[in-house]
Amino acid sequence: MTPEQQQIRELAREFAENELRPNAEHWDREGKLPRDVVAKLGELGFLGMLLPEEFDGLGLDTTTYLVALEEIARGDASVAVAMSVHNSLPTQMIRAQGSDAQKERWLKPMARGEMLGAFSLSEPDSGSDAASLTAQARKVDGGWVLNGAKAWVTNGGFGDVVVAMARTDTADDRRGAKGIGAFIVPTSTEGYIVGKKEDKMGQRASETVGVAFQEMFIPDDQLLGEPGMGFIYALQGLNGGRLGIGAIALGIAQAALEHAVAYAGERRQFGAAIKDFQGMQFKLANMATRIAASRALLHQAGDARESGGNAVQMASMAKLFASETAMFVTTEAIQVFGGYGYMKEYPVERLFRDAKVTEIYEGTSEIQRTVIARELYR
Ligand SMILES: Cc1cc2nc3c(=O)[nH]c(=O)nc-3n(C[C@H](O)[C@H](O)[C@H](O)COP(=O)(O)OP(=O)(O)OC[C@H]3O[C@@H](n4cnc5c(N)ncnc54)[C@H](O)[C@@H]3O)c2cc1C
Repeated sequence: MTPEQQQIRELAREFAENELRPNAEHWDREGKLPRDVVAKLGELGFLGMLLPEEFDGLGLDTTTYLVALEEIARGDASVAVAMSVHNSLPTQMIRAQGSDAQKERWLKPMARGEMLGAFSLSEPDSGSDAASLTAQARKVDGGWVLNGAKAWVTNGGFGDVVVAMARTDTADDRRGAKGIGAFIVPTSTEGYIVGKKEDKMGQRASETVGVAFQEMFIPDDQLLGEPGMGFIYALQGLNGGRLGIGAIALGIAQAALEHAVAYAGERRQFGAAIKDFQGMQFKLANMATRIAASRALLHQAGDARESGGNAVQMASMAKLFASETAMFVTTEAIQVFGGYGYMKEYPVERLFRDAKVTEIYEGTSEIQRTVIARELYR
């Protein structure tokens, strides 16, 4: 790690140790995060890590951001996913496609943590096949009127501004990836209706909501880039987003390994610490090795994104490998804890639940494999 990466890592670790870890269990049980956690992330600069200084960001490279995100996830994966969605998707989409005026208006408060961002692509009937979305954007004088139902929006009610995709061209021959627009939608907009908060298996403190757009007027200056290009912008955002999910998976796995190592040193059976049994040593060794490999792949993918390598394939590989590692490591961590691992009073139970969704959101493992294979034939 560079000295800058070490410094950011220490800052993130200190924050996670003091403010997140001690509260993670409680927030999980309550199913919500206090808003001041977001404000503190903003004060640290963690909500503008990838934005240039001219927009009040820290102007860091992708890998340094991933280092910080891993540490935050090691403390609490729910906080990390709020941070990841904000940094990777809405802010990056506005940065890449926004006009100067849009960047000035939205990016600065987002970087400072005064506005938390969200991303809304999925719908009840369109998940992996996101290009089949049906929310409509109808052109009217001075703007667009949006109608439709969106699903599973992280930060969708808790946050302040959503980059939402809706179909701007309804002609049948233009269905599919073309003819979708990306809109900057403050959650306070009339007609933005926050629906049911999902009762989830894991990452329970992170808010996931359904949202309805009901005759929601969005002025022209809140359309991002070209009207028919929103789906392409969303996919570009997701390439970066997947690295963020990889870092979250890695942080969860690292936390589970640390708990397992500590417990195996303390727990005694047959007159010895269980860490002295080779069966346990092999488990811990496999966990540590997969984590180290995930981290190496993730940082390589982060560097590829900075240097213009095949970032798409690398991002999918890193997300796939890290999320499957998180499931492997958290499952093994419960095994190391035995019956206690199955109890909610021990943290590995929560980490196991938190890990699963990393194999699902921002592209399932099946979709990551599809992307990786497709890139082999390019
Ligand atoms: C907690 C959480 C938070 C989320 N946050 C957001 C958010 O902020 N914004 C947002 O837009 N979305 C969000 N999502 C949605 C998420 O991105 C989707 O759940 C994901 O893309 C998968 O879509 P789906 O759930 O509809 O599954 P489906 O697409 O219905 O897939 C079902 C199964 O079929 C498999 N499958 C589908 N197509 C293929 C194929 N071609 N080949 C092989 N297998 C295939 C899938 O891999 C999966 O195993 C969130 C989801 C969750 C659970």
